[in-house]
Amino acid sequence: MLCFLCHQQFGITDQDITVYQSMGVPPPTHCPDCRHLRHLVFRNERKLFLNKSHLSGKTIVSTYPSSSPFKIIDKDEWWSDSFDASIYGRDFDFNKPFFQQFKELQREVPRWARMYINCENSDYTNNSAGTKNSYLTFSSYDSENLYYCMRVIRCNMCIDCLNVKDSQYCSQCVECKKCYGTHYSQLSDGCSDSYFLYDCRNCKNCIFCAQIRNKEYMIFNKQYSKEKFEKEKEKFLKKLFEDKKTLAKEFENLKKQLFHKNLRIINSENCTGDFINDSKNITNGFYVTEAEDCVNVYDCSKIKNCYDNTANDKSELCLECDTSYELYNAKFCSYTVTSENVSYCDQCVNANNCFGCVGLHHAEFMILNKKYTKEDYEILLAKIKKHMEKTCEWGKPFPSTLSSYPYNVTVANEYCPLTREQALEQGYLWHDDDACAQGNNDQALTCEKSGKSYKIIPQELKFYETFKLPTPRISPDERYKELLSLQPPKKLTDSICSHCAKNIKTVYTADSGYKVLCRKCYLDTVY
Ligand SMILES: [Zn+2]
Ligand SMILES: [Zn+2]
Repeated sequence: MLCFLCHQQFGITDQDITVYQSMGVPPPTHCPDCRHLRHLVFRNERKLFLNKSHLSGKTIVSTYPSSSPFKIIDKDEWWSDSFDASIYGRDFDFNKPFFQQFKELQREVPRWARMYINCENSDYTNNSAGTKNSYLTFSSYDSENLYYCMRVIRCNMCIDCLNVKDSQYCSQCVECKKCYGTHYSQLSDGCSDSYFLYDCRNCKNCIFCAQIRNKEYMIFNKQYSKEKFEKEKEKFLKKLFEDKKTLAKEFENLKKQLFHKNLRIINSENCTGDFINDSKNITNGFYVTEAEDCVNVYDCSKIKNCYDNTANDKSELCLECDTSYELYNAKFCSYTVTSENVSYCDQCVNANNCFGCVGLHHAEFMILNKKYTKEDYEILLAKIKKHMEKTCEWGKPFPSTLSSYPYNVTVANEYCPLTREQALEQGYLWHDDDACAQGNNDQALTCEKSGKSYKIIPQELKFYETFKLPTPRISPDERYKELLSLQPPKKLTDSICSHCAKNIKTVYTADSGYKVLCRKCYLDTVY
């Protein structure tokens, strides 16, 4: 098949066709990468703005800027019993395409400002659940005292971390778990009191080390005595204040000398993709945990029989859903939670048997936010299906122009940036003033990279003082970009093993300068 959007070839297997048929939709016209990018257009993860609630007029922290044409309300107002989006319900108009009617409804129904569940004192966060005392932290769960973190789970006191789990007192770490007092490190597990580690396990007091296991007092993979190590560490910390850039460059060079594992698939069977754990039968999955029988899934956990999903957790039988959890038999839904038999829903919670609805909670048998009996719902849905087949909308996900976010605040812009003109020409919204909310802005510093103002909060300052680390000279946004650049792309390419020359799939492109090994050679030479 030729992708309708990027015109690249992509494959559809017999198994895919069977799945689409069983879900009652035609096979996709876009390649998996374009399908994933469409999901990201619907996601604003980390841009926050001060806005005014459409209902109460109070100032709120929101993922929507005040220039948004949507009606934005506070999370508490959205969840309150008095908020009932069924008052915006309307008849289905068979003289209009469905997506047009959906867009009209979407502009009427007030939207929640951000995702925030069971959190405390974490006003400047989004997509967070069970977080306490955290600031500018996103998509993170069950944690305390996180600052500028993304996808950090069960952690305490971490700064500038990305995809970190079960760790404490870490900063600028990516893909690490069970670490303590570890900084500027990647892919490390069970390490403590260390700096610039890469792919290390159970190491302590190490600096600039890679692919070592159960070691202590090592620098550049070389053994030191405790006394000598402490002296060298003093020198290292001094250098860190004077010229961190050169140290970071040395670390990059170190990584290029290593042999890397082609894909990180752990405790899983019959899977392709990267960063897959405890899963079975996953095709093209990235950052997937405890999943089974899924295809093209990204940042998902505990899902089964899901096709083309991004950031969907604890769900089953889902097609083209993003930013959701606890869905069963759902198609083309966005920001929809704990719902069954739903299609084309946006910001719905506890909705069962709903179609084309926005902003509902505790709803059943509704179409365009209007309530029907079970029988009428089924009759109307069959008619709508025929109508949408005629308008060529049936089985197609929401067009990306139905995203409620300006393109430049979405995750898509991180991977595929557009200029203002390009975005507007393609029908997206755009937000002109990109100053994001960061609370009280006294003592603002100027970012050395972007020239924008940012601040260091007292908790952060204390952390740097305790660990004798320099305070950052670049803004949280630029720091996040640096962390992101450490992640390999979420796309498989063909390569050959640097050791046995076997054909392999990997996420490292030829121009990354990384030497890549097949699983067997990696286990033989590194592990
Ligand atoms: Zn494509
Ligand atoms: Zn090999």
